[in-house]
Amino acid sequence: MLSSLPGLPDHLIEPLQDGLLLRRGGYRGRFAPSPTGELHLGNLSTALASWLEARCRDGLWLLRIDDLDTPRNRSGAVDSIQHDLHWLGLHWDGPVILQSQRKGIYHSWLSWLRRTNALFACRCSRRMLAGSSRYPGTCRDRQLSWGWSDGRLPSWRLRVAADDPHQSGDVVLRRADGFVAYQLATVIDELQLGISDVVRGDDLREALPAQLSVFDALGSPPPRFRHVPLIRDLAGRKLSKREASAGLAPLRQAGSDAAAVIGRLAAGLNLVERETRISANELRQHLTQKGLCAFDS
Ligand code: GLU
Repeated sequence: MLSSLPGLPDHLIEPLQDGLLLRRGGYRGRFAPSPTGELHLGNLSTALASWLEARCRDGLWLLRIDDLDTPRNRSGAVDSIQHDLHWLGLHWDGPVILQSQRKGIYHSWLSWLRRTNALFACRCSRRMLAGSSRYPGTCRDRQLSWGWSDGRLPSWRLRVAADDPHQSGDVVLRRADGFVAYQLATVIDELQLGISDVVRGDDLREALPAQLSVFDALGSPPPRFRHVPLIRDLAGRKLSKREASAGLAPLRQAGSDAAAVIGRLAAGLNLVERETRISANELRQHLTQKGLCAFDS
């Protein structure tokens, strides 16, 4: 399958092959928060779902920090993410992976994709594209310059075939501000880290077609994806923005311990009947006994 990428240099192909081998070795999940602030209950619910599935399947669970979008990073967030996961008993395997330390890899892929004419430069503004749900191909055949012009850089888009089954349109792989796009970094990481299963929040479901097109462009099979419903309150209502965006601090201040918070998150995920006190490990045992380890997509 990787053979469909002619002229791919060894330093790019080997990590992909290693990743595929890792993937065949068993379940490998991951949690990939962006360090834009403290984890809120919505993120924590996703973290719990993804951790539970990995542990129920006797798999590994990696922690990756998506910190490429530096203007949105908040200082202290990387530490507080680790602290909160630890406090809840959601322990990860291996070292924390920081995307900011992997920029060289993403740029090597961008250069190769550009060299093989898989990309094109696009100078459409957000405003020009407003109203079209999928990129209409405006700059595809315009051979625009890759560098600065009128004080602006272009974005770099992947040429996606019109009969693409994922219907993603031409995905942006390098943004007009020069940053590597999440869609590229995440796909390269899933592959190189050998991720077999991605369990994440429903809000990322709409990112999937673009990611599937990128997997295709990299000649590699995607992992399994499952999107878990966003957390709800006990009455089944979506949490308000304010409730969902609160982190652990107010709960701790109100005297909640980890078992109380896990119980609350588990109730929100419909894994236990109602809010109860339960540790992450007890919850995992409970699900294993009931045969409820997989989350529906
Ligand atoms: N870091 C991104 C986020 O937190 C994406 C995570 C993912 O693909 O799971 O929204």
